[in-house]
Amino acid sequence: MEVIGWAGTALVIIAYYPQIHHLLVERCAWGLSISTWVIWLIASTLLLIHCILRRDYLFMIVQSINLIAIAITIIAARKSNNLCPYHLTVARTAAGQ
Ligand SMILES: [Zn+2]
Repeated sequence: MEVIGWAGTALVIIAYYPQIHHLLVERCAWGLSISTWVIWLIASTLLLIHCILRRDYLFMIVQSINLIAIAITIIAARKSNNLCPYHLTVARTAAGQ
């Protein structure tokens, strides 16, 4: 059963990679809602406290990873000042250019 938990933890790590890579490499935060990510940051903090109080080590690790990845996402998004070629095309198409 513990294998399922670790597989889920691995997927949490993998799931953040495309977004963080896009933010750090392309410096593009197109379509990203900072408000949503701040809510997730607060939720992950509360869930981490819950895990600590229950001494649930697997979920402590997952929530710690979530907190770090969410914080990196928010910081990188706030520093983003570029549109990648793909999102530039999407933005121009939406603007009718
Ligand atoms: Zn982009």
